[in-house]
Amino acid sequence: MNILKNKVAVITGANSGIGLATAKLYLKEGAKVVVSGRRQEALDEVAKELEGDFITVKADVAIPEDNKRLIKEATDKYGNIDILFLNAGVATPTPTNEITEEHYDAVFNINVKGPVLATKEALPHINDGGTILFTNSIVHQKGFDGLGIYSASKGALRAYQKVLTSEVKSRGIRVNAIAPGPIDTPIYGKMGLPEDVVEEMGKGFAQKVPLGRFGTSEEIAKSALFLASDDASYINGIELEVDGGLSQI
Ligand code: NAP
Repeated sequence: MNILKNKVAVITGANSGIGLATAKLYLKEGAKVVVSGRRQEALDEVAKELEGDFITVKADVAIPEDNKRLIKEATDKYGNIDILFLNAGVATPTPTNEITEEHYDAVFNINVKGPVLATKEALPHINDGGTILFTNSIVHQKGFDGLGIYSASKGALRAYQKVLTSEVKSRGIRVNAIAPGPIDTPIYGKMGLPEDVVEEMGKGFAQKVPLGRFGTSEEIAKSALFLASDDASYINGIELEVDGGLSQI
């Protein structure tokens, strides 16, 4: 299969979950992939299971210098970028009365500042007609207790994407986002919550989904392939909910 033959893709948060599944699918479809994450050992681990033309780059999206280096290493290796997939994110919950400045800064630095600055660094190196893709979430369309800062960060990202879509129009660059519903990825284990609380929360989410289950990273990756491909050539500026219908009822 060669849907992305010779396309150069940069994916953040690619050592895990949605990013990793997308990296695998893009490689399978012939892309050259820059697999980025913030932990070298995690990148070394996934490098063992990936097949195709790829490099790994350690970069923390919350650190501006890392975003610069990510784009430099990507373009040094493969030249201009066709697909920039800004997927890295964290979803640590905090009830409103427990929100701290540190929590706010940590979430916004990763979920908003990171993709915004990575986009700025990458733009001069994205081919005209290329694609910028984001992983948002349906959380900013609904109200889930404890997820105020996370939801606000994804809502801010969505607002930014609308401006970006317009600003890059003269270059034919398409800007789209995926808004996953509950997807079975390691993110739930990173929320800093006890296992039984995460399990209960998961059951609650699944019950609310019309399809009655969590989605898989592979289901999101298929949408990321479609939106990055020429099959989506007239799709621009959207946030595609991939959530089993959760946001629609
Ligand atoms: P995941 O498996 O935890 O993947 C998140 C990735 O982002 C990991 O590779 C993580 O690295 C990376 N990351 C976090 N902070 C980073 C930083 N500062 N710099 C670089 N990389 C960083 O979770 P996922 O579910 O696939 O999440 C991917 C995206 O989907 C996120 O933006 C998340 O908000 C969004 N999303 C997920 C769900 C869901 O239910 N799973 C629903 C809606 C939206 P580490 O491995 O080092 O943590």
